[in-house]
Amino acid sequence: MYRTHSCGELRASDINKEVALSGWVQKTRDKGFMIWVDLRDRYGITQLIFDEKRTPVAVVEKAKTLGREYVIHIKGSVIERESKNSNIPTGTIEILVTELQVLNEALVPPFTIEDQTDGGEDIRMKYRYLDIRRNPVKNNLLFRHQVGMKVRNYLSEEGFIEIETPYLIKSTPEGARDFVVPSRMNEGQFYALPQSPQTFKQLLMVGGMDKYFQIVKCFRDEDLRADRQPEFTQIDCEMAFVEQEDILTIFEGLTRHLIKDIKGIAIHDFPRMTYDQAIKIYGNDKPDIRFGMKFGELNKVAQHKDFKVFNDAELVVGIAVPGGASYTRKEIDKLIDWVKRPQVGALGMVYVKCNEDGSFKSSVDKFYDQDDLSQWAEITGANAGDLICVLSGQTHKVRGQLSALRMEMGERLGLRKPEEFAPLWVVDFPLLEWDEDTERYHAMHHPFTSPKPGDIPLLNSRPGDVRANAYDLVLNGNEIGGGSIRIHDKETQKLMFDHLGFTPEEAKAQFGFLLDAFQYGAPPHGGIAFGFDRLVAILGGQETIRDFIAFPKNNSGRDVMIDAPATIDTEQLKELNIKLDL
Ligand code: ASP
Repeated sequence: MYRTHSCGELRASDINKEVALSGWVQKTRDKGFMIWVDLRDRYGITQLIFDEKRTPVAVVEKAKTLGREYVIHIKGSVIERESKNSNIPTGTIEILVTELQVLNEALVPPFTIEDQTDGGEDIRMKYRYLDIRRNPVKNNLLFRHQVGMKVRNYLSEEGFIEIETPYLIKSTPEGARDFVVPSRMNEGQFYALPQSPQTFKQLLMVGGMDKYFQIVKCFRDEDLRADRQPEFTQIDCEMAFVEQEDILTIFEGLTRHLIKDIKGIAIHDFPRMTYDQAIKIYGNDKPDIRFGMKFGELNKVAQHKDFKVFNDAELVVGIAVPGGASYTRKEIDKLIDWVKRPQVGALGMVYVKCNEDGSFKSSVDKFYDQDDLSQWAEITGANAGDLICVLSGQTHKVRGQLSALRMEMGERLGLRKPEEFAPLWVVDFPLLEWDEDTERYHAMHHPFTSPKPGDIPLLNSRPGDVRANAYDLVLNGNEIGGGSIRIHDKETQKLMFDHLGFTPEEAKAQFGFLLDAFQYGAPPHGGIAFGFDRLVAILGGQETIRDFIAFPKNNSGRDVMIDAPATIDTEQLKELNIKLDL
């Protein structure tokens, strides 16, 4: 028997018990006549003692050969520890060892297996299995498991059933590129890995499985941005005979339950905001509402004076940065440089200091008097002591730039508190989105999302104004979930494909199975998917999803541990009928 107890289990009440433990050598201390070893496993650390007086000599000699991370098995008795360690749960006892077996030797690890390690990110990723022995990574994985269990239990209680859908499928159009898999048995043909189980879950609704969920891997071959993984996990859900309100209620319930259960924080009704409002007030469809700094549009009060920059702008918009009036000239210049960085892209920034005595000092005093500036303060909600930062230009761009500045200032001022939770539903997304590259409308969500019935007549005349029955759940500035009510009749689906520029033949070739299914009694249905990695990271009080994935890929989409992607044998290529012309 390898172990009677784990390394985190024994207490003073176990004194005098004969036990067997197995684990890894965290560290050894050799005093010559006495050797102490910290033995570690998933559950904790237990101190072993090898004492010349009480332990057989051969065992003491063997203990002297132990190195870090050796895997060992011991037998011995639990005794009271002389110098107790109140930092660990097993700190009142130690094991007086009588038998020692080395199960496996270990090379010296390339970094220390401690909470604060000396290993950098790259080396830890290459030896991720060693990294997983460290508490911070191990605890994140345990936490992920717990969140997964809570989700499963909650949804199961609500009558949802988990159904697996295939990974080798035909392309699902979610807006990214597919990863493809060549088929050996069907020359020249490929499977695609699912970007999501979207079409399958809709077919499950046609199949009568009216409440489906799945914690499922999805694959998207996107250009990698920081903290995006080419394969990631979703909590994917679909329900039949529901309207938007039903879906929001259930998944608001799930989110509230998780925040309460895991964080002990009670949240009442989640606020809602339309997409248009979110964009106007925060410049962003996933606003962090833990802090204010709402946008104030200044066109009316700032245009038609002599300031050409503003007169030429489509939008003049500002935010009030709390306490910013005390910034020095140098600090403000730095802020201006910050908004001018290519990643943000503003051409410049106008500022107004709202002095404590009620007066204003701005960078455009030549064009605006105190009355003008006091109107700006009113519109941006600035108080005495604040700094109003104003950007101008093309509406869409300026909103993005000011949103970036708002988030940056929120961060700098410590307003994005990790232990505060502010969920928000963003509803009424546009159905279609103009794509500059292809010069065509694309489905903003996906082509199965239903337009708001009242907006259907606009499809021909003002397609960009048609709103969808689509919603996102935003938590602390992150989109953690998104979904929609689907189209469930063949005619509307055809109309959609038509507007997205699919010919009837293309639509039939790609989605014939779905259009067919809609002819056999498709119920009204809708659903949502949560980004599980991100949700777990946020609930864990962190923003990096990589820390919550056992074997993540790096920022270039590589697994540096197994060294993938990699080339394959010529033989394998031949079998797959793939000719590489390199
Ligand atoms: N399939 C969608 C996504 O992955 C979610 C949904 O509409 O349910 O974003």
